[in-house]
Amino acid sequence: MTPQPSPEAGAAVKAADRAHVFHSWSAQELIDPLAVAGAEGSYFWDYDGRRYLDFTSGLVYTNIGYQHPQVVAAIQEQAATMTTFAPAFAVEARSEAARLVAERTPGDLDKIFFTNGGADAVEHALRMARLHTGRPKVLSAYRSYHGGTQQAVNVTGDPRRWASDSATAGVVHFWAPFLYRSRFYAETEEQECARALEHLETTIAFEGPSTIAAIILETIPGTAGIMPPPPGYLAGVRELCDKHGIVLVLDEVMAGFGRTGTWFAADLYDVVPDLMTFAKGVNSGYVPLGGVAISAEIAATFATRPYPGGLTYSGHPLACAAAVATINVMEEEGLVEKAAALGASVVGPGLRELAERHPSVGEVRGTGMFWAVELVRDRETREPLVPYNASGEANAPMAAFAAAAKKAGLWPFVNMNRTHVVPPLNTSEAELKEGLAALDAALSAADEHV
Ligand code: PMP
Repeated sequence: MTPQPSPEAGAAVKAADRAHVFHSWSAQELIDPLAVAGAEGSYFWDYDGRRYLDFTSGLVYTNIGYQHPQVVAAIQEQAATMTTFAPAFAVEARSEAARLVAERTPGDLDKIFFTNGGADAVEHALRMARLHTGRPKVLSAYRSYHGGTQQAVNVTGDPRRWASDSATAGVVHFWAPFLYRSRFYAETEEQECARALEHLETTIAFEGPSTIAAIILETIPGTAGIMPPPPGYLAGVRELCDKHGIVLVLDEVMAGFGRTGTWFAADLYDVVPDLMTFAKGVNSGYVPLGGVAISAEIAATFATRPYPGGLTYSGHPLACAAAVATINVMEEEGLVEKAAALGASVVGPGLRELAERHPSVGEVRGTGMFWAVELVRDRETREPLVPYNASGEANAPMAAFAAAAKKAGLWPFVNMNRTHVVPPLNTSEAELKEGLAALDAALSAADEHV
């Protein structure tokens, strides 16, 4: 039941949180989390009755919005019949979820190893790649996020890895393409693509192809800025992997399950990886679930030799029942197609129109329901509206932006100098327009810092 919003109840929730909850990625005494009373569809509300349109999908995972009745019912039914059962057994919810996922993943990624979320999916994908190839190293991109566990945070490019970098050997970072802030002095997508591929090829040569187990990339890097790669880049990476016997791991934890207007972002580029990680959208995050989709060739490595890895809750029936229901909802409501259509007709054009009027907008990029707006002090120099670091430096312009958005009834995703526009895939056209209007007001607040 949704609790009746009352400020007193909210204050009690907040007090217990502040006393006992240790929050992710935070200086515990410098945060002020909002007490949330309830959520439905694309909205949530606090105990004072303030309602927010959620342009963040939580942490980019509630792809079907909050409290979808069909998925809630499926979880209730699974709880009533078989709440849990250990992973060594074949159970209906698990088999069915694996089948539905395998039927949608590209190519011959037909075996599914279930995990509890994205980071452990990355851990296992890299372990599989190392065991399959017998090689030690992994190459990953600087502008990336792959999760908070030891190996996942080490392949991550963003500064959050610095705190635990020394603990894992064998990870080498490289620059993936991103024309707006090109590391290759490129002026066109073609140049960026060619130079990024040459850089990767050189990195492989200097590291020694026979030492490299895997290259891991987000198909479209998400947390680091929603940066669709130029045409041909991923196909080029695939070629380099084939040439050197390197396993290609595409991380679709954020980009997968309809976010990009296709089932998987890899579909946009016609590239089939050897391993693909997923989580979040697989069941809209209603119950924790992630996994690795495995190619026939890598699965064969573990046909008669045991795979040395597992999790107590691998393929938890509640999570799998939620995945089955979520995928069915996505099919029945045509949400992948809807994300593609409204992304192209409403969100993209709406954001570009805002970019024309607001000098603080440097670039708009994305696809489907997966967009980034990059805020700058100066469009010419592209100087970010906040410095690129994670040192907790005062971030007045983005704080002003976020406060103005919230005042207008929108909960925005803010990371460094960007806002990511990543609403649930079933957000209606009217709701999207309402959110764009709130962004208009919020960008006016940012404009004052230009
Ligand atoms: N990979 C990617 C691409 C992600 O975006 C994330 C989470 N934002 C992860 C991995 C880690 O997933 P989780 O937080 O479920 O461990």
